[in-house]
Amino acid sequence: MSGIAAIVSCLDGYDPDALRVDTAREAVRACLSPLTDTEVVKVRDALGRVLAQEIVPGIDVPSHDNSAMDGYAVRFSDLQENHPLREIGTALAGKPFAGKLGAGECVRVMTGAVMPAGADTVVIQEVVKRTADRISVPPGQKKAQNVRYAGEDLKIGVPVLAPGKFLRPAEIGLIASLGIGEVRVKRRLRVAFFSTGDELASIGSKLKEGEVYDSNRYTLHGMLARLGVEIIDLGVVRDDPAALEAAFRKASQYDAVVTTGGVSVGEADFVKQLMAKLGEVLFWKIAMRPGRPMAFGKIRNSYLFGLPGNPVAVMVTFYQFVRDALLHLSGRTDDYALPLLKAVSSENLRKVPGRTEFQRGVLFHEGGEWKVRTTGQQGSGVLRSMSEANCFIVLEHERGKVEAGELVPVQIFESLV
Ligand code: AMP
Ligand code: MG
Repeated sequence: MSGIAAIVSCLDGYDPDALRVDTAREAVRACLSPLTDTEVVKVRDALGRVLAQEIVPGIDVPSHDNSAMDGYAVRFSDLQENHPLREIGTALAGKPFAGKLGAGECVRVMTGAVMPAGADTVVIQEVVKRTADRISVPPGQKKAQNVRYAGEDLKIGVPVLAPGKFLRPAEIGLIASLGIGEVRVKRRLRVAFFSTGDELASIGSKLKEGEVYDSNRYTLHGMLARLGVEIIDLGVVRDDPAALEAAFRKASQYDAVVTTGGVSVGEADFVKQLMAKLGEVLFWKIAMRPGRPMAFGKIRNSYLFGLPGNPVAVMVTFYQFVRDALLHLSGRTDDYALPLLKAVSSENLRKVPGRTEFQRGVLFHEGGEWKVRTTGQQGSGVLRSMSEANCFIVLEHERGKVEAGELVPVQIFESLV
């Protein structure tokens, strides 16, 4: 035994013919090596990319102590006297006050203005009484109030972002706040995909008897696009050994390949022979619904995910296995697991122990709590169930039927961007 077969066979409870969802996930993860290639991009273009360097501030942010409010900069010790203070100047954001506060003096400050030398506290303008150049401050002020200190956001020399961090608008702004214009990121993962099946018709042709339009390639395109990977569409491939071999050879020059169809029992045999010739691919029967058959392996340096053909099974297996795998391969080290929240089931749900089910659900708010119902018909060919749903209801492996009112885990689709 070599390569990935050797790796997965060491896992607890590994049985390719009755694989638990969590074991399948673990098996995929154990075989992946994240990409290491990097490139330098302008900070704006780094949105949605994976950071490949540490970000260490070369300056403090903010770089000076400054006022958090519009008001008056004062010496806190002067406030004990309860005498009016004399206003000796103004500090604006970007226009500091050049002098120094002496006893009994104050400086008018605006938000973001550098704290004038000698001042330690800011009193907001709304509470101050002003007559000519004198102000009086009511009691109850606190020392150092309304002052933002140099480095309280980012400190010079203290690392703030680690390699593997996914860059969102907040990180882009944070990097810009340090005056950094370019960053090193991982190169984008290149993912090829194709559909297989003699029954598939392409959009634009008229359906012949027994044909269906190839919708999987469109769903897959959408799901891959949302992951931010580079996408290579290799089209429809007929159930023909020579055509499939050519497609897999072409696809194997990319980092990963996702296919749909051709892994169900009736079809798997010739695909299996072909795969054995091209690389090392495992055929799994996963204890889940929908989406029982799935192939996973390597063809040359490319990872293969052979998903079932049924349109709902494609989406479920993609989100439960492929998404995490591709994000891991992309080099991400932050926590991107889909959150599992609990909601009250508003109906009885049929379920047998011994497999994990991903029912399509509608999460809704009623009577002060979050409840969930199914979208109705749950066939793995009913893609409408995915369109009507806003979450998966995840019924765990050991769980039996669910009574209305019980809590069930849900995965919200909105987090799948
Ligand atoms: P398979 O896994 O190839 O046996 O396909 C299972 C079911 O999914 C069959 O009813 C297929 O017609 C359907 N199917 C397979 N591929 C696609 C596709 N690309 N688009 C839409 N339906 C498909
Ligand atoms: Mg097929």
